[in-house]
Amino acid sequence: MSLFRDDGVVLRAQKLGEADRIITLLTRQHGKVRAVARGVRKTKSKFGARLEPFSHVDVQFFSRGSELVGRGLPLCTQVETIAPYGGSIVTDYGRYTAGTAMLETAERFAENEGEPAVQQYLLLVGGLRTLAAGLHESHLVLDAFLLRSLAVNGYGASFTDCAKCGLEGPNRFFSLQAGGVLCGDCRVPGCAVPSPETLVLLGALLSGDWQTADTCEPRYWREGSGLVAAYLQWHLERGIRSMRYVEK
Ligand SMILES: [Zn+2]
Repeated sequence: MSLFRDDGVVLRAQKLGEADRIITLLTRQHGKVRAVARGVRKTKSKFGARLEPFSHVDVQFFSRGSELVGRGLPLCTQVETIAPYGGSIVTDYGRYTAGTAMLETAERFAENEGEPAVQQYLLLVGGLRTLAAGLHESHLVLDAFLLRSLAVNGYGASFTDCAKCGLEGPNRFFSLQAGGVLCGDCRVPGCAVPSPETLVLLGALLSGDWQTADTCEPRYWREGSGLVAAYLQWHLERGIRSMRYVEK
């Protein structure tokens, strides 16, 4: 028998039987964890309210090793709320769709249960905090999160220097395969040629330069979102379903 404690973000809550739920969390130390929360679907369960998607929580888990506890999954035995981001996310359609795509992307990048994904966890917490605060356009918060998630998982894109030979930018030719822009000598067939402003925007989103990102013209936001979505799809076998609902 063992008890362990961790911080985590609730990614999903699925029904289990009459009153229980299977909660999927991205935790700081244990990566993706699925656990059973008993009795949480009763109307007055405070426990259940704390385990809604987008919540940042501190959870105590109970597991019995290989013995079956709640269908082999650990049990959530205590939950404390660190930040209830869901409150201001689910009430706004733009935030909700962007946030849902963030949760789904985080889960896809942290697919192996129990394998730590600390940087992905920190990005998700920071991204949800920014989204919930409502200081920036929701789709920009999403695109910044997606670009940084790709980067911490080994797919960092270059939006200035040539991704192949390193020639100092700006460079114009964008290639999904190459992982960013290419110079005239390195360009390959099938490169996109986005607006220079769009490449500046993407670089700003990746580095956290919100002033540049916030004041960019909407048409470059849209072009940038298209490139980010294509780059993400390129690196994930299946697409992120919830991306199609995000308003651009
Ligand atoms: Zn080059």
